[in-house]
Amino acid sequence: MPLSLVLEAQQRGSTGYVDRAVRCRLSDHGGDDHYGLLTELDTYGAALWLRWHGTETALLALPDCPVTGPGPGGEGCCLFADHPEAHTWQHAPEVTSYAS
Ligand SMILES: [Zn+2]
Ligand SMILES: [Zn+2]
Repeated sequence: MPLSLVLEAQQRGSTGYVDRAVRCRLSDHGGDDHYGLLTELDTYGAALWLRWHGTETALLALPDCPVTGPGPGGEGCCLFADHPEAHTWQHAPEVTSYAS
């Protein structure tokens, strides 16, 4: 992940810490757009995501996915609102890492 993006994410995030080893959080998917969680934002219920497609990257501030698993006390989804593919409580994430 480019250092400039790491620095920007650190400035925008609430913790000041960003893991540079970003992993795609989507379940196994066909498209080439990958989404990795970078850090929580000060805004409640929102987080900063890295979207990458090959070597093209973008920082996105996205609201959390509000959909929870079935039943009382259902598991929350760890993705963002309107994400493609399945909710995280439906499928384990794929293991695609951003390699720069
Ligand atoms: Zn992916
Ligand atoms: Zn979801």
